[in-house]
Amino acid sequence: MSSTSSGTASADPSADRSTRPLRLRFAPSPTGFFHVGGARTALYNWAIAQREGGTFVLRIEDTDEARNQPEWTQGIIDALAWIGIDADDPHFEGPYFQSTYADQHIAAANRLYEAGMAYYCDLTGEQIQERAKASGKQGYDNSSRDRGLEPGPGRVLRFRVPEGSTVVHDLVRGEVEFDNANIEDFVLLRGNGSPMFLLANVVDDVTMQISHVVRAEEHLPNTPKQQMLWEALGEVPPVWAHVPVLVNEQRKKLSKRRDKVAVEQYREEGILADAMVNYLMTLGWAPAGDTEIVPWSEIVEHFRLEDVKHSPAFFDLKKLSAFNKEYIKAMPLDDFVAACAPYLTSDDVPWPREQFNPVVFSEMAPLVQERVGTLAEVIGYVDFLFLADAPIDEAAFAKTMAAADAVAVLAETIDAYETAEWDAEALKETCFAIGEAHGVAKGKAQAPIRVAITGRTVGPPLFEPIVRLGREETLRRLRSALDRIGAPTA
Ligand code: GLU
Repeated sequence: MSSTSSGTASADPSADRSTRPLRLRFAPSPTGFFHVGGARTALYNWAIAQREGGTFVLRIEDTDEARNQPEWTQGIIDALAWIGIDADDPHFEGPYFQSTYADQHIAAANRLYEAGMAYYCDLTGEQIQERAKASGKQGYDNSSRDRGLEPGPGRVLRFRVPEGSTVVHDLVRGEVEFDNANIEDFVLLRGNGSPMFLLANVVDDVTMQISHVVRAEEHLPNTPKQQMLWEALGEVPPVWAHVPVLVNEQRKKLSKRRDKVAVEQYREEGILADAMVNYLMTLGWAPAGDTEIVPWSEIVEHFRLEDVKHSPAFFDLKKLSAFNKEYIKAMPLDDFVAACAPYLTSDDVPWPREQFNPVVFSEMAPLVQERVGTLAEVIGYVDFLFLADAPIDEAAFAKTMAAADAVAVLAETIDAYETAEWDAEALKETCFAIGEAHGVAKGKAQAPIRVAITGRTVGPPLFEPIVRLGREETLRRLRSALDRIGAPTA
């Protein structure tokens, strides 16, 4: 075994160096809501497994007892199913739970010890720091290497890092060379005998015969250590691929404290699963054609790790919403209406439940479907139909009514609507004609009417809902808007 051997195994960094059948894995730690970055990593693995007929292994890395919660595990499984990574699919295997394999992790560590590739160390953190201070170098100085310590309470087992360098062949990043001199003899077993993450992760990958490790870039610094462990255990390391970090608008790494990162939250807001999947796939990769909006079947056909960029990928909420808008628009109307139902009947609606009229909503649905970015936004597009009064946005109202001739257009429209034919086209033409007489463009002419009826400046096309509201209610709202301005009713 020599860690340098991996550097010369293949001249072509993109060549598949693993001879094992294609087995990928997704190995999340269940320590919180399911992160969009995790979802992207899972999808990259899934796309390859599906195209190549490989296996996607789900391994829950639940060894951090203090931070793991069973509900997070269920959350991961549910969120994966939502994005189409379905436990019933023939490519899916697992879930396996890392905590159940502790004996194997320890046994592997013992094998390394027996073979002289690992040794015990009794230095405390403080002692290590003191020594580092004295020598002016950072970290542990490998000084226990040749002390021949026996196993004992409080003694950690360290891996003896070989000399030379370790070359990691990464499908995304190319060849990355690490000088082993910069890698300290790292810990495999803690003083209490429990396995460290690096060891557990590798031993599980070995046991599960993983051929490709596709994971977040933050693990790249672990990779030379893990590659050495694979080799020390007498195994050919897997093919590595480290996918780019996700960043927010300020180009800072997405974090659960700063940013909205939970897949569950997007799902609740009414981002469609297909839109989420498509968008996540484009974070570091792009389909070849002139649109990034492509169905999963096409993604599976064309996605290649070799084409993944390694620069940080901006998780752009506006773009996600734009994707979602396209997916919502493309839904069959009945599916859209059905998908809206849970939002319209939830406890979050602003109207009294009994005021909701599904027939009215179905009529409005085609107009709303064209415009919303999420299903939750639907509420704000139809609330004025189910509330006794328009939910007035005061600032928008004031601004709209302050525009030149807005009040005059409103007052004259009221007059005209008292007798106008009650038909969307006729009502629209009437309003526009009044606007025109005042030198006010079409969009501007309907603005005071819209804000009086719906309380907002944006929403669905206006005149169909007005027909629905009826003459009496429409006139009542228009007059009430005029009263609100304090202008004399015409
Ligand atoms: N459990 C690790 C994490 O959630 C993943 C390690 C890996 O993919 O190798 O960050």
